[in-house]
Amino acid sequence: MRGDYHGPAVRKGPSLKIHEYQAKQLMKARGISVPSGLLATTVDEAVAAVRPLIEELGNPVVVVKSQIHAGGRGKGRFIEYPDLGGVTVVLAGIDGGVEAAEEAVRELAGKMLGSTLVTIQTGPEGKQVNRLYIEQGVDIETELYLSVVLDRAVSRNVLMVSTEGGTEIEEVAEHTPEKILRATIDPAIGLANFQAADLAYGLGLEGDAFKNAISFMKALTAAAVELDTDLIEINPLVVTKAGGVMALDGKMSFDANAMFRHPHIAQMRDESEEDPAELEAAEHDLSFIKLDGSIGCMVNGAGLAMSTMDIIKYVGGEPANFLDVGGGATADKVTAAFKIITKDPRVKGIFVNIFGGIMKCDTIAIGVVEAVKEVGLQVPLVVRLEGTNVDLGKQIIDESGLNVVSASDMKDGAQKIVELTK
Ligand code: GDP
Ligand code: MN
Repeated sequence: MRGDYHGPAVRKGPSLKIHEYQAKQLMKARGISVPSGLLATTVDEAVAAVRPLIEELGNPVVVVKSQIHAGGRGKGRFIEYPDLGGVTVVLAGIDGGVEAAEEAVRELAGKMLGSTLVTIQTGPEGKQVNRLYIEQGVDIETELYLSVVLDRAVSRNVLMVSTEGGTEIEEVAEHTPEKILRATIDPAIGLANFQAADLAYGLGLEGDAFKNAISFMKALTAAAVELDTDLIEINPLVVTKAGGVMALDGKMSFDANAMFRHPHIAQMRDESEEDPAELEAAEHDLSFIKLDGSIGCMVNGAGLAMSTMDIIKYVGGEPANFLDVGGGATADKVTAAFKIITKDPRVKGIFVNIFGGIMKCDTIAIGVVEAVKEVGLQVPLVVRLEGTNVDLGKQIIDESGLNVVSASDMKDGAQKIVELTK
């Protein structure tokens, strides 16, 4: 249970994301092949990265890559510069050499840093680009897809590969599912040689590329276990003209509950990429996940929170969040939770569903009344209280003079809030 963890402050959500350049650092440190690159947060840093990268390979091509926690950057566009993509290859040409590449990067970085990139994964509001990764250009022979996904249904990592690199895997899964090859990894053995060979063969690889792909897959699947990832996605995984196999992109996310074992990864967290409401909730030690619906939920206990979301959907509504205030919440915590819910402009109604076991109904009632006094109540509120001190809780709410609708049970409460928000 995440509520029982008292280690360093880490995100309590289901998973922790990092940037591409950080994922590549982790891969490089484990002997997994990635292009050389340098991080830049200013235009000058971006320009300064060009010479060492070009001189290392003698190849006057660099790639300027926006670092945001969202994919689809290559096809994404900046709001401020509608012709500019989030991943841009700088071809300075052999004659222009380093200086021409530096000038091109200066112009690009000047536009990209601080601007807002919209991709299919960011939503229409986009994400501000504050970091750029300047990377060596790679001579691509083929683009492949590879991922290591924790499959919760079988409690194992699954390695997936496809020849359809560079395309969204969801597209491939929908239109040509036969082009996705899988191997389920036995945790006691790791990825077996025959499995890796099977997949490399299925990708149509031969010679050096075949051997390099096997080493790549074995090293990456071992890294997934060592680092407690729940997803590593390499799209594209490229075969170079020289037969090398390299991660051109790298997306990694981790089991947040395992981060006490990996303080260096916990530190890679970039709070500016995270949802402010979820961050605020984490500060108050609340388990909170924002969703797309319109009914805010305040519940105690993860199981009750899940069934509350289910019953809201059952009666035709959509929950705006998952929120578990925990077993022994104080009135302060309840107030904080209530404020987080009301801040969301999409919330058109709130359903408080509490079963008081350890948590007492009067504590919840005091917290709710306090919160409403502080922030006001712009939307309908339905409260269902049951359990310890239920009469006292109801009395507190009745005497508060607040416009609260009481519910006799869960289904009644769900129906009432859905009705009131229509
Ligand atoms: P994403 O769009 O967010 O998934 O970002 P990627 O890192 O996958 O980059 C998008 C695309 O840019 C890739 O699919 C490649 O086709 C291209 N690209 C990235 N790096 C290089 C490079 O070094 N050389 C070349 N020629 N293309 C690159
Ligand atoms: Mn990609």
